[in-house]
Amino acid sequence: MKKKVSHAPDVQNCKLTRVSFYPKMMTVGDILDAIEGWAPSKVAQSYDNVGLLVGDRSQKVEKILTALDLVPAVVDEAIETGSNLIITHHPTIFNPLKTVTGDSLEGSMIIRLIQAGISLIASHTNLDATEGGVSFALAEKLGLQDVTFLQPVTGKTLKLVTFVPVTAMETVRDALAEAGAGVIGKYDSCGFGIEGVGNFRPLEGANPHAGQVHGDIHSEKEIRYEVELPEWILQRVIRALKEAHPYEEVAYDIYSVQQASTRFGMGAIGILKKQVELADFLRLVSEKLEVAAIRFVGDTARPVRTIAVCGGSGSSLTGEAIRQGADAYVTGDITYHRFFDALDTNGAPAIALVDAGHYETEFMTRDLLRDFIQSKFSSVIVRSTSVKTSPIDIFTP
Ligand SMILES: [Zn+2]
Repeated sequence: MKKKVSHAPDVQNCKLTRVSFYPKMMTVGDILDAIEGWAPSKVAQSYDNVGLLVGDRSQKVEKILTALDLVPAVVDEAIETGSNLIITHHPTIFNPLKTVTGDSLEGSMIIRLIQAGISLIASHTNLDATEGGVSFALAEKLGLQDVTFLQPVTGKTLKLVTFVPVTAMETVRDALAEAGAGVIGKYDSCGFGIEGVGNFRPLEGANPHAGQVHGDIHSEKEIRYEVELPEWILQRVIRALKEAHPYEEVAYDIYSVQQASTRFGMGAIGILKKQVELADFLRLVSEKLEVAAIRFVGDTARPVRTIAVCGGSGSSLTGEAIRQGADAYVTGDITYHRFFDALDTNGAPAIALVDAGHYETEFMTRDLLRDFIQSKFSSVIVRSTSVKTSPIDIFTP
């Protein structure tokens, strides 16, 4: 007899699988962790106040607003757009607050944020110090090429050397990379290994991976493996090493190394596509940074091509810009006396020193933060503020 084909569902063998069509809801903590991976709070200046300033790590986030500064109009915009989180460059809470009341600008904004359930994160000098951070965004805005740090961080890099049995090498290598060791410029998992022989003798109470307690001295084929890492992730890297390494006692050395960091520093330096007269460069700065008036020291007829920049208040780096051979240095907040740093011993300009304004050299940070967060979290809607947050106007009669 021909077997009857049933089109009815085989209920007994049918496994019901619950499929979620909703992506994982992001939290403030997820966003903080992503920023920490890019611009670690450990590279912020000691006087700074970065990270989560208002709110809770567990708060769910669907919409984010980015801005250079928090001002009441940005709070309005966040409420109107249903944002759960604001990320600013400048920290709204900077000096210790004694009260949070409606009597101060900061207090009244913080109260409104809490009432509206909006968290606030600041990414300030940590973002200044990060490759691809504020000064790199300014350099890009001015069309600079071959951009590197003006003053790379030095003395914050360590070298970790460990000794790994050959059979465990891949596991240890991957664990160290996963913990963040071995990042050089645009490469991760950088390390070097060379094979040799390690020896040891387990004593009473030991639980050796190889060799016998009170036996002969044991020899093991090992790889001497070395990686570099920033000093602030050392404890995390050692924890990862000990977890991945098969030995009960893990041998390792830590050295300080002096080479400049490829990932962290201050300011940026690059070159214009072609040499121009300073007057034309100032016109470019005015146009790209939307500056109505520029204060500067320099000879407008002099050609410029190598350009140093630092978003915000960067006048302390003028000497470094001169040492690096920059023809011009663009930053903000240059005081009268700091303009003299641009002069040589005869009083002639050694560099064109250009004050384009604090806001004007940093406003692109709102888009930098937006683009970074959006690239990491496609399920979150990120917009940068439409508010000009600088309270300063320039009067041109
Ligand atoms: Zn600033």
